[in-house]
Amino acid sequence: MSKTFLVVAETRGGSLRQVSYETISAARTAGGTDTAVAAVLLGAGASALANELAQYGADRVYTVEHADLEHYNPQAYFAALHAVVQSAQPDAIFFGHTAIGKDLAPQLAAELGTGQISDVTAIEVDGSGETLFTRPIYAGKALEKKAFTAFPWIVTVRPNNITPLAPNATRTADTEAIAYPEPTLHTIIRDVVRNTSGKIDLSEAKVVISGGRGVRSADGFKPLEELAAVLGGAVGASRGACDAGYCDYALQIGQTGKVVTPELYIAAGISGAIQHVAGMSSSRVIIAINKDPEAPIFKIADYGIVGDLFEVVPLLTEQFKQALQP
Ligand SMILES: Cc1cc2nc3c(=O)[nH]c(=O)nc-3n(C[C@H](O)[C@H](O)[C@H](O)COP(=O)(O)OP(=O)(O)OC[C@H]3O[C@@H](n4cnc5c(N)ncnc54)[C@H](O)[C@@H]3O)c2cc1C
Repeated sequence: MSKTFLVVAETRGGSLRQVSYETISAARTAGGTDTAVAAVLLGAGASALANELAQYGADRVYTVEHADLEHYNPQAYFAALHAVVQSAQPDAIFFGHTAIGKDLAPQLAAELGTGQISDVTAIEVDGSGETLFTRPIYAGKALEKKAFTAFPWIVTVRPNNITPLAPNATRTADTEAIAYPEPTLHTIIRDVVRNTSGKIDLSEAKVVISGGRGVRSADGFKPLEELAAVLGGAVGASRGACDAGYCDYALQIGQTGKVVTPELYIAAGISGAIQHVAGMSSSRVIIAINKDPEAPIFKIADYGIVGDLFEVVPLLTEQFKQALQP
């Protein structure tokens, strides 16, 4: 193997996040057959997950275990990751384009004096062997293809875009524990209080049902929640709905909110402003429900339903319930 690409795996609640498998697959595609893919796991108890990373394609797993790494702390994580990078000397470092990846990747690029390509949605190796990274620009109105001119590469990969490799239960990986460098921390995380516990993570959801100002109140989200429960999806929102106080800003999808790429996106009572579209236009199938037939959302929807969401959504819930009955 002439090169080594390092993938920064992420965990939540003691399990690997789906984006970790996707990022391993991205590194494999980018590197081709002469590249070893290593993964790094940070956090107390992380090494228990090394085997799973191997099954999804990692050849080697670096672990750093320390109490400082129990919750995400930028300084602690950066110090641990930097120690791994110094030991592994990778030719590329891949992150998920998640809150953690978006925070760590630019810091590492600055530290290593190298470039970064972020929010990558596709990777290809062209006829001359150059690796090209596709990413949306101008709020998703155009795509650009970029290539690096120097190593190491730093890449963040948009969740839900790259298919993970099929797991192979017989695959194993070498593991190497790296010592935590114990930096002086200027802040410490005392506790993390989750207010969305038990809910599906919007950025990883396969189905997203979003409500806009058309839902008219916090209660107006209830029919959307019922539909999401039937489809095993998550509920999102436009900024219009958040600004009106109908829901928490944690649900906001768009340019200044979360970017989602589900298999199915249902926009109910959302006009389709460019800033909203920026966060959902890469969804595989888009269904828009709006009582205004001229609403811009219909221009990007695969299926449009002109009607009152309070009539249409319960009908859909009923139909899906029947269709999905075992
Ligand atoms: C810098 C900047 C950043 C922004 N970032 C974001 C962002 O990240 N995400 C985002 O979403 N917006 C963002 N916005 C705001 C954006 O421009 C729009 O104002 C917002 O998306 C509008 O939300 P909306 O579509 O829910 O509301 P509206 O524009 O008020 O649309 C409501 C829609 O609901 C329909 N409707 C009403 N009642 C019903 C009913 N009973 N049944 C069916 N349809 C009904 C109406 O016909 C209308 O089309 C940003 C704006 C700026 C300036």
